Amino acid sequence: TPALEAVDVTRTYRAGDTEVTALRGVSLRIDEGEYVAVVGPSGSGKSTLMHLLGCLDRPTTGVLRVGGRDVARLSDTELAELRNARVGFVFQSFHLLGRTSARDNVALPLVYRGVPRAERRRRAAEALATVGLSHRLDHRPGQLSGGEQQRVAIARALVGDPGVVLADEPTGNLDTRTGDDVMALLERLNRDRGVAIVLVTHEPDVAARARRRVHLRDGMIESDERDTTPLQGP
Ligand code: ADP
Ligand code: ADP
Repeated sequence: TPALEAVDVTRTYRAGDTEVTALRGVSLRIDEGEYVAVVGPSGSGKSTLMHLLGCLDRPTTGVLRVGGRDVARLSDTELAELRNARVGFVFQSFHLLGRTSARDNVALPLVYRGVPRAERRRRAAEALATVGLSHRLDHRPGQLSGGEQQRVAIARALVGDPGVVLADEPTGNLDTRTGDDVMALLERLNRDRGVAIVLVTHEPDVAARARRRVHLRDGMIESDERDTTPLQGP
């Protein structure tokens, strides 16, 4: 089963009596363990596509399957459950709770899944260890650097053990060096744990590091290129 699959998907927004078609006939299959960059000009539909792939939104027409399940057949509650189980999100602006410790920020998705507190704390500490932040468990976001905050956000995306991490401009608010560290972390998660990564980026260097690049233009897939060279060993 593909991790994510869009078949002839459109998404139309209605604003008053005008309609904007953000995606027009997008078909895309992303397998378990893939590493895909989504690129394209502003307004080409990248965020809309990410919202659909992440079950934050539903297509206007066409079929979207997440983990093999057709989202059109799910209630809103079932869709939220599917999102919680399958997908982790990383945003440009981190979206951490400011008054909350790194550990509690990371544990938050487990609250929605009804995981008991002791286990939440244990799993949050484990996820923070994965991103190299074992020494920052009790720090609040304001006490952390931008790169550290993004690593907390990555730990939060991972804590529920999702098959897919969707990252919308994850390096957009970071300097080059810190952005490189965050990219290296995402690459390691992909390589070592088999987490599929779908990443929106404006930065050609970042896109070039993915194994596959999907170019959007005017709501359509203009090209879909894959690297054919074998993966380098460690
Ligand atoms: P990108 O992420 O590539 O910049 P978006 O998916 O954000 O593109 O937007 C695609 C198109 O859909 C744009 O024309 C945008 O203005 C429009 N759009 C996005 N979200 C909405 C919305 N909530 N309401 C109306 N139009 C929207
Ligand atoms: P950034 O500025 O980091 O790119 P945005 O604030 O643009 O992030 O968020 C991207 C989109 O994701 C927005 O449309 C926002 O409504 C949505 N979003 C942000 N955080 C969450 C969340 N935790 N759950 C669901 N949707 C979210």
